[in-house]
Amino acid sequence: PAGKLKDRLLSIPLQEADKLVTELGGVEQESTVSITVVGASGDLAKKKIFPALFALYYEGCLPEHFTIYGYARSKMTDGELRNMVSKTLTCRIDKRENCGEKMEEFLKRCFYHTGQYDSQEHFVELDKKLKEHEGGRLSNRLFYLSIPPNIFVHAVKCASSSASSVSGWTRVIVEKPFGRDSKTSAALTKSLKHYLEEDQIFRIDHYLGKELVENLSVLRFSNLIFEPLWSRQYIQNVQFIFSEDFGTEGRGGYFDHYGIIRDIMQNHLLQILALFAMETPISLDAEDIRNEKVKVLRSMRPIQLEDVVIGHAEIRVQFRHVPGNLYNRNSGTNVDRTTNELVIRVQPDEGIYLKINNKVPGLGMRLDQSHLNLLYSARYSKEIPDAYERLLLDAIEGERRLFIRSDELDAAWALFTPLLKEIEEKKMIPEFYPYGSRGPVGAHYLAAKHNVQWG
Ligand code: NDP
Repeated sequence: PAGKLKDRLLSIPLQEADKLVTELGGVEQESTVSITVVGASGDLAKKKIFPALFALYYEGCLPEHFTIYGYARSKMTDGELRNMVSKTLTCRIDKRENCGEKMEEFLKRCFYHTGQYDSQEHFVELDKKLKEHEGGRLSNRLFYLSIPPNIFVHAVKCASSSASSVSGWTRVIVEKPFGRDSKTSAALTKSLKHYLEEDQIFRIDHYLGKELVENLSVLRFSNLIFEPLWSRQYIQNVQFIFSEDFGTEGRGGYFDHYGIIRDIMQNHLLQILALFAMETPISLDAEDIRNEKVKVLRSMRPIQLEDVVIGHAEIRVQFRHVPGNLYNRNSGTNVDRTTNELVIRVQPDEGIYLKINNKVPGLGMRLDQSHLNLLYSARYSKEIPDAYERLLLDAIEGERRLFIRSDELDAAWALFTPLLKEIEEKKMIPEFYPYGSRGPVGAHYLAAKHNVQWG
């Protein structure tokens, strides 16, 4: 029966599901996915994209027929690409098992094509090679733009006109940065849409693929104890804290050129904020979720300089006080109106904990703050997949929920562009603070102005 078949298809890995569909009378034409990593010689491709693709292969999440092509200007043979890629693949999923065999199988599916990013001719050559591997099956093509942003549009133009699929879908994953401000971001969007439909563009923000960020919606919308409290009536403040356990070592030039506001705040933190603050979407459909996120971003006031502390450089939810708290100092206990705090630690040491007031065991009435603690490493033995694995799988499956729509991007830039302009015009000097401290002193003053304790 159709219902049972659907349930079975939903519960098995993609590779098996593909086989099953084929077995069921060959109704579906066999399909294949060709993944082209544009900029395959680069850092991101080596460190993240190829390892994530291998992890998906290892887990049986890639379709039966797939081919991976590296594309870049550097001259390399297929063997040299495989050799380069093999250095960054790890057997992290099942350390007990020797995954060497799987690696060999995976590497045999990886190929390389040398080409310029703005050459139609070179993309036509790529197209020919892809077709040979696709062997007449229905072809689906995914291009991952792992190249500097100034060449995005050239590559999209050539890929879309000379190497897109004629029988199946063509999708393009675009890496940040998506512009430097509203104007440049809008120009990039306009150029991309000249060659692609919006639903072909997958703007990646790898923070959205992180386990704890995905879990944020589950925590909110499937636990009755949180959602009714998720309002300003009960929450006094929310702090999104981005702290790194290393300095700017070696990245000074990058920060001078692009900066942490553009690189982290305008995208990663704002995306998490939107997920945190959105109303319940009507379904888990990508468009319903993204509609709610856009509403949050559009409802926010552009950020004013007076509300900002710039310093050289967890989600923390502080609830309000319990009205008329019985257990305050006046009642003879030691607790001074301590509030509940929910902390969602995205990285490192993924975990969720809730600070509660608790009675210290004993004859007296002493209270302290204890943690109801969900530390992922202690609770789950399975290693958490890298964000790129989740996102690559979603792009292959056409799941857009964790990718950024163009109107989300516009709304995000509209919040930060006036602020960035002012900071740059006034040549503002960031406040220094010692490495390992809790951030610039100004942040504590700003928090105090709003009657909030920082960090
Ligand atoms: P790279 O600087 O390593 O560039 C990737 C490849 O693009 C290079 O190997 C090179 O290949 C080609 N390339 C570099 N500069 C130019 C140029 N000026 N003109 C033409 N081709 C060029 O970038 P990453 O791999 O670090 O990052 C790729 C993209 O992902 C970028 O947009 C980056 O902003 C983004 N990103 C990177 C992250 C990371 O951790 N590295 C994290 C998040 C986003 P060849 O010379 O062989 O053609």
